[in-house]
Amino acid sequence: MTVLVVGSIALDSVETPFGRAENVLGGSAVFFAASASLLTQVQMVGVVGSDYPIDQLDALAERGVDLSGLEHAEGESFRWRGRYRHDLNSAETLETRLGVFSHFRPKIPAAFRNAPFVFLGNIDPRLQLDVLEQVDKPKLVACDTMNFWIESRRSDLLALLERVDLITLNDAEARQLTEEVNLVKAARWIQAHGPKHVIIKKGEHGALMFGPRSVFFTPAFPLETVFDPTGAGDAFAGGFIGYLAHCGTVNDVNMRRAVVYGSAMGSFAVERFSITRFLEIDEQDIAARVREFYQLVSVEQELPA
Ligand code: AMP
Repeated sequence: MTVLVVGSIALDSVETPFGRAENVLGGSAVFFAASASLLTQVQMVGVVGSDYPIDQLDALAERGVDLSGLEHAEGESFRWRGRYRHDLNSAETLETRLGVFSHFRPKIPAAFRNAPFVFLGNIDPRLQLDVLEQVDKPKLVACDTMNFWIESRRSDLLALLERVDLITLNDAEARQLTEEVNLVKAARWIQAHGPKHVIIKKGEHGALMFGPRSVFFTPAFPLETVFDPTGAGDAFAGGFIGYLAHCGTVNDVNMRRAVVYGSAMGSFAVERFSITRFLEIDEQDIAARVREFYQLVSVEQELPA
């Protein structure tokens, strides 16, 4: 089944303890599409400026990402500059230049409106709401957000929460949004404001999925080399929703498996700058990493009565 993603399409400049990259492909929609397209069909909507190296998206098109919803506007593309110090869990934003995103109004092509899975990648919550006005009753709508929007568009974000089935956000964002220090309380607060499922990502400490009746946890894959954490969150979302779309059915069992796929795809994202790693891997690499996840957490002993 198809996933529609709307989000930022960025040129990122990133500095990590291991090197730096200037003006490389980034943005929530791009990381999501690079990840999800390894599992299912993806339709991408966003805007690029006149300075965008459009041919670099060919690799995604070859993977079957439908780019016909991409808008080309006069002006500068969205740019984000960030830095990670030795704590690779938290990005320090040095600069955000919205460029053509500041006038962007998503137009969902008619052929994309009945996508059964919709991911509202990290952009202005007003635009995320705009997208929901244009789609026909998807099976699952998920969204992501970040500190930038929690600070500047809180009321729009709360209106959005009422209309989504699931939200992914990291631990710091969950605490900022809810003003709860405890993550269980933070998740319950978010659930009380709309989404039945809340996924809180904790970087190298894994991810927690809070559902109406249960909580599920996966660790992060213990990689020896984490090169650049940028995009791990969007790649996680791409793996999670990509897997659900691949299955076609949303139920508890598939959602738990989807968290493992999300974690696997997040672990690939951090191995290189930008989306490079996703262009190197295939289904077998994903299957191998998912198997390693199961080995990481499975216990052969019987549970005590
Ligand atoms: P993450 O998966 O959370 O590491 O997201 C990384 C991506 O978010 C980067 O590629 C940035 O281009 C993008 N990004 C950073 N700030 C914003 C923002 N305010 N709105 C939308 N996207 C952003």
